[in-house]
Amino acid sequence: MRSATLPNPNRMTLLVLREAGQPAKQMHMSKPLIIAVPLVAILSISGLIISLQLQSNQTIARLEGQLQSQNLKFEAVVSDKNAAIERLQNEVISLSSQSQDMMNRMERVAELEDQLQKFIEKYGESDSSALSNLSALSLKGLDVDDPNEQLGVGGEFIAVHENEIEQLAEHTKDQFLEMNAMLDEMEKNVPLTLKRAKQTQYSLSGTPSEWPTLSKRLTSNFGYRTDPFTGRASFHAGIDIGAKQGDPVYAAAAGEVITTAQDNSHGKYIIIQHPGGLQSWYLHLSKISVSEGDFIKKGQTIGQVGNTGRSTGPHLHFEIVKNGKTIDPLPYLQ
Ligand SMILES: [Zn+2]
Repeated sequence: MRSATLPNPNRMTLLVLREAGQPAKQMHMSKPLIIAVPLVAILSISGLIISLQLQSNQTIARLEGQLQSQNLKFEAVVSDKNAAIERLQNEVISLSSQSQDMMNRMERVAELEDQLQKFIEKYGESDSSALSNLSALSLKGLDVDDPNEQLGVGGEFIAVHENEIEQLAEHTKDQFLEMNAMLDEMEKNVPLTLKRAKQTQYSLSGTPSEWPTLSKRLTSNFGYRTDPFTGRASFHAGIDIGAKQGDPVYAAAAGEVITTAQDNSHGKYIIIQHPGGLQSWYLHLSKISVSEGDFIKKGQTIGQVGNTGRSTGPHLHFEIVKNGKTIDPLPYLQ
């Protein structure tokens, strides 16, 4: 049989050459197998590559998804932060404007305190003319803006730089420091001014200007006259006001009651010492309603009209004593 030597078109021979001196090795294989083996190898490598690629694509997609959601979160945080910064900037602006308002008002208050001090310096002494000048103290500087009032505002919008806001905040801080210093100063000065104002008020209200009775009927003036008892020329040290028995007698000014007494000449009488140095005397009373040492207000009832002592009928004898001498009371009385 020659069939074994006949070349088979479906078979191929692989000749493997080895080291020198070693015989070559022949391998007989079928043709389809020769093609199939590398093909399978190529296919399986390709499959591996494709599956690796698919896997990495999935990983990339997952990472991209994560990254995207992270980005969204960051964007949300950033936009929150921006809104917060804008709010803070607006607050700085509002605070600065409030601080400016407060500063202006404090300056006006300080100015008023200054005016008050000048007023006290000018009218501090006991002087009846000062009474009418009390209203000279103008308080019109203290008109405070109503915060509820709708203010008409407008104008072009001009964006501000962050640096400007920082400067504004810095300036506002300075203003608060300045206001603090002003408040310290005022805290120190205002009580002193108030004390001086009270002294001034006390001394002003100590000027005997209040008419001492309901009746304004003058029966005898201050000065020389014919004595009603002796008919001889004499000096009348006060004024006589004819009034009804029991009518109230008012203090002509604030002061301290230094004498309440009775004698044949004065009858029942009261002497009040006023802070400006003047004294007022009230004679021939039917009743005394105050005690020595009492501090009384201007216009306060101190007793009742009477006819005690050297008197011809119910009346009030009213005197003002200045530096130990009687003076005409009429110029003092309203
Ligand atoms: Zn008299």
